[in-house]
Amino acid sequence: MGMIGFYAGSFDPFTNGHLAIVKKSTKCFEKVIIGIGKNTEKRTRTSREKMKKAIEKTLKEEKINNAEVIIYEGLTAKVAKERGAEILIRGLRNGTDYQYEETIAEINDEYSKLDTCYFRAGNLGYLSSSMVMDLFNAGEDVTKFVPKAVAEILKSKKVGE
Ligand code: ADP
Repeated sequence: MGMIGFYAGSFDPFTNGHLAIVKKSTKCFEKVIIGIGKNTEKRTRTSREKMKKAIEKTLKEEKINNAEVIIYEGLTAKVAKERGAEILIRGLRNGTDYQYEETIAEINDEYSKLDTCYFRAGNLGYLSSSMVMDLFNAGEDVTKFVPKAVAEILKSKKVGE
């Protein structure tokens, strides 16, 4: 039997970069749980409930049927374990991501005995949720950076909201 992976993030919003990681990881793992958490260093811009629905719609459209989406509170490794995950999944865009991710990965390994698997961002490595929101708040069209269902919830928001 294959492994269950836990892909945690703020996903605020979920971008095509995140989707690429989901596509790659669902090919490698039996199941991937996409966990919408709360990064204590960032404020939440879009309702997590709405983002969950948009990600679920995207998974359907992409015909990915071995991924599920949850909203969670508290420690990622603890929730991942409770859900039966054996590995954490993260995406790497550059060296800065790597250094940031390594400190978290090391703590998760030491405290929870959960290792982390990185997937390469590749040509979508320039994409970040905050860049998408900066462009959106400036009134720019961001439809090419996010899945359709995510663009729809962004459009329902007022610019600057
Ligand atoms: P967090 O606040 O937990 O860092 P993010 O939603 O910003 O959550 O990112 C979740 C994960 O996805 C992180 O591992 C991040 O490096 C990765 N990621 C973000 N953007 C991209 C991208 N464009 N391509 C690949 N991975 C990405």
